[in-house]
Formats: sequence, C-alpha cells, structure tokens
Amino acid sequence: MDQIDVFTDGFVRLDSAMADDLSVVNAARVSFGTRKEAMDERDDGLIGFLMRERHGTPFEHNAYRFHVRCPIFVMREWIRHRVGSFNELSGRYAKIDDSFYIPSVEDVRTQVGKPGSYTFETVAPDVADRTRSAMEESYSASYAAYEAMLADGVAREVARSVLPVGIMTEFFWTLNARSLMNFLSLRNQEHAQREIRRYAEAVEALFETRMPITHRHFVEHGRKAP
Ligand SMILES: Cc1cc2nc3c(=O)[nH]c(=O)nc-3n(C[C@H](O)[C@H](O)[C@H](O)COP(=O)(O)OP(=O)(O)OC[C@H]3O[C@@H](n4cnc5c(N)ncnc54)[C@H](O)[C@@H]3O)c2cc1C
Repeated sequence: MDQIDVFTDGFVRLDSAMADDLSVVNAARVSFGTRKEAMDERDDGLIGFLMRERHGTPFEHNAYRFHVRCPIFVMREWIRHRVGSFNELSGRYAKIDDSFYIPSVEDVRTQVGKPGSYTFETVAPDVADRTRSAMEESYSASYAAYEAMLADGVAREVARSVLPVGIMTEFFWTLNARSLMNFLSLRNQEHAQREIRRYAEAVEALFETRMPITHRHFVEHGRKAP
C-alpha cells in the first residue's frame, strides 16, 4: 500500500520511487570497480558500516517522490527541509477547498514547562470541546469571507489572505534517502510537533518498504542521517 492516511483528510502517498538497498552497496563498491546484482549478508554489513561511519553519499543514489496532503502549518515546517524539491497547490490558480484540520479530543493539549523543554498534556474534555468548536466557527467564518470575495470578483491570490493555516494544502516532494533520514531524525522524534510527526511516521513506513536494510541500520545507529 503506497498511501497512508493521516488525520481525517490528509495523506502521504508514495507517487514513485527509484530506491533499493542494492543501490547503496553498488554506489559504495564502485570505488573498487565492483558491482553486485543481489544483496547478501556482507552487503547488509556494509550498509551498517556506512551508516555508522557516516559515509553519507552512497545513500544519495535513489529518489522518492511523495504526494502529501496536510494543513498549511504542517507544510510550513516541512519546507524548512531544503534538500529536496517541492511543488505546491497554487492558491492563485485554484480555489482552495474548505477542508480544515481539527484536532481530535486527545490531540487538544496544553503546553507545560519552558522553551526547549516543553511537555504537552491532555486538557479537560470541556476545554477540548470548546477548542474544537472555536476552530470550527473560525474556519467557517474565514471560508465564508473567502467565498464572498471570490463572488465579488476579487482575485484568488488576494482573497486567500483570509484563510487560516489550518486549511489543507497539497504538494509533491522529491528527495533522496540521505535527506529523508535527516527529515525523519528531526520530525519523527519526541520534540517534533505532533501533527508533522504523524506525517513523518507515514513517510518512514513507506521508506522502510523500499529500503528495509538501510532503514534498519538507520534505527540501530541512533536514527541519525549518515
Ligand atoms: C523540533 C524542531 C524545532 C524547530 N524549531 C524551529 C524554530 O523555532 N525556528 C526555526 O526557524 N526553525 C525551527 N526548526 C527548523 C530547523 O531549524 C530546520 O530548519 C529544519 O529542521 C530543517 O533541518 P535541516 O536544515 O537539517 O534540513 P535540510 O534543509 O533538508 O538540510 C539537510 C542538511 O543539509 C545541510 N545543509 C543544508 N543547507 C545548508 C546550509 N545552508 N549550510 C550548511 N549546511 C546545509 C545540513 O547538514 C542539513 O542538516 C525546528 C525544527 C525542529 C525539528
């Protein structure tokens, strides 16, 4: 399965991939003028060695192209990862759908502690309900204003200013396994915001299907990109 749904209306879909563990081994072995057709136990060990010693370039000879649907505030964190290519839905050319992120009751949380060492705790059920209702009302008012402007002939690129960062967007994202592991090390970990972490978990599951040995060594060597 190359699509993993995230929250009610989001997903991560692996649109295409040119990626396998053998490419890592062959990229490393070209230094000695040798090439393999199939993986064996020594190759597994070689990938572990490359990961441990942080010989990163053999992990660059592959490509993953993902199609992602997520809230704008998640994408805003995502596009900080510069080593990769992005193309996003245009709010200038297309009318943006009225689909918004509303956290589940368990995901409405309070922030405890100081910058750098926050922990997040679940709020009382009535606070969660009020938060979710306030979001719904705010989203609905913003979207009504957007539609009213469009009905008045205002350009989409101007009208979109009233839309909140909880609205859904879509993008294509292409990158190699080395950069992907850097993304996972930062976004699928306890300090990452919960919402992008859910997406990073989906990215990681799809990465594991294509490069299981590389993924295993990434995990065993402390989840650091080589
Ligand atoms: C928990 C968390 C909290 C964060 N909080 C903030 C915040 O408060 N404010 C904020 O602005 N950002 C914040 N960020 C974003 C963070 O600073 C990075 O921009 C983001 O994680 C991308 O990481 P990256 O640069 O390693 O990835 P990429 O841009 O994909 O780069 C991959 C690697 O390439 C190399 N590289 C890329 N560009 C350069 C360069 N110009 N010079 C040298 N080496 C380069 C580096 O080795 C880098 O690790 C946060 C990120 C996380 C995970």
